[in-house]
Amino acid sequence: MITITSDFECGNAKNVQHIEDNRYRLEVVGDEPVWCYYFCFDIKNDGPQTHATVEVWHDPVINDPQGFIANFPTTIWIQSSGAPHYKPLEQQQVEYHGDHIVIHILLAENQTVRVTNLWPAPYSETCEFVQHLADERNDRCELFTLGKSVQGRDILGIRAGTPGKPQVLCIAGQHPTETSGIWGMRGIADFITSLLPDAATLREELLVEVIPLVNPDGNVAGRNAFNAEGHNMWLAFRDDPDASEPEAHENKLLWRKATEQGIALWMNIHCYKGWRESSEHPYDGWHEVPRDLFQDPDQARLYQALCDTMRLETTGLSSSGTTGSTHPKSTMCYQLAKRLGIPAIFYEMNAGTAGPYRATRDSVDVFKKGMHTLLHHM
Ligand SMILES: [Zn+2]
Repeated sequence: MITITSDFECGNAKNVQHIEDNRYRLEVVGDEPVWCYYFCFDIKNDGPQTHATVEVWHDPVINDPQGFIANFPTTIWIQSSGAPHYKPLEQQQVEYHGDHIVIHILLAENQTVRVTNLWPAPYSETCEFVQHLADERNDRCELFTLGKSVQGRDILGIRAGTPGKPQVLCIAGQHPTETSGIWGMRGIADFITSLLPDAATLREELLVEVIPLVNPDGNVAGRNAFNAEGHNMWLAFRDDPDASEPEAHENKLLWRKATEQGIALWMNIHCYKGWRESSEHPYDGWHEVPRDLFQDPDQARLYQALCDTMRLETTGLSSSGTTGSTHPKSTMCYQLAKRLGIPAIFYEMNAGTAGPYRATRDSVDVFKKGMHTLLHHM
């Protein structure tokens, strides 16, 4: 007998139906148009070896089949219960249709397999990771908390560097299932607290704070974009770009920290799946704010140099200057630049090709190059 469940941290699937023999149908749980593609479910086989077929459908409540299917083809990751890593499912085992995909899986006797289109970065593991860094490297960093999420979860970060030096705030996980960003920020936390000579130099020159997962409630619940209040944290100011603070509780905490501490730079990593008009597979992407937002000539020059860094020195080159790569007024990047002249590095990891290991290395690389440019132009 086969059973399909999603009742676990980062799980996402609903309305599971047994159609015929070993064929099943389920729907993803979307948040709003565009952000309605993530799934993560367990398929459990209680019997002898068998094949199973699972249809994964767009969310009919959101009713944005295009927003769903635009994220495919991409890597479908599978993890056998007890295995330490996810593996990519072979492409011929997945069919792509206009409003659903079909996954064919061979299940061993009594095997349970987790199936997802984004290698999860669970909140609980991320907290353990950050806590471990703070314990193991307590001569080089300290744990801090941004505050608590709407549902009372600690939003943990790591702080490393020299008090009084320019501050850099690095975050990921606004869109909670964009996990390559979370993996990338975990990598940056690892790097900046490491014994590598470049990290030691940066700790002398900067004060770096890294918060790998700013939306814990959304991550635990397997949401695409929302926090527990139902706010899309990327579109922080949504319909009122001139509001004194962003909508979502967790964004308010970030906004207060960024504005009250007078940070020198804000780094934010998201990720995307599938193919994009503004990118070249398998490369990453990055987004700018309008460069004329910066009133101060020195800050405008610094931002131009950071954009040059992203364009010329990262694999996120391909979103530069193309439609859809400029932040709208409702984002934190836009408002920090406009109101306070704070520049941002906003990077999009390609999750179709990035599990935790490439996400880590590429994010560390982007971070190092960005910091090099920042220090040169300050
Ligand atoms: Zn995003």
